[in-house]
Amino acid sequence: MRTGECGCGNIKIRTNGEPEIRLICHCKSCQKRTGSDYSHNVYFFHEQVEIIGEVKNYTRTAQEDRFLTNYFCPECGMTLYWHMDVLPKITGIAISVFDVDDFDMPEESIWEKFKRPWVEFSLQLKHLHGQSE
Ligand SMILES: [Zn+2]
Ligand SMILES: [Zn+2]
Repeated sequence: MRTGECGCGNIKIRTNGEPEIRLICHCKSCQKRTGSDYSHNVYFFHEQVEIIGEVKNYTRTAQEDRFLTNYFCPECGMTLYWHMDVLPKITGIAISVFDVDDFDMPEESIWEKFKRPWVEFSLQLKHLHGQSE
């Protein structure tokens, strides 16, 4: 059981058990969302996740005409989690919601076709050109 929260503490997320996927994403949308070169995320089944508080959402198009809905705190604006049409049973969560040290290291690095050339990792990763398989 883990509990995390947004920047202002208005929204909390409680998760049960271990994430299905731990990954780093280099896609353009994550670069935009995080203001950084890649995002670090954990993916749980919906039933493992409990959201406490009133979130707002924004749906955007994703790679290859897919859709992704981001859920964010209306007070501090931080995106905490998202739902994707491509993985309908899964909730993606920004690992920064939690204590990052509470998780094992990421296993996959996806959308590497957008990876900044200076970004290198010193851990063993599955490298994917596009989305997670
Ligand atoms: Zn907040
Ligand atoms: Zn991404």
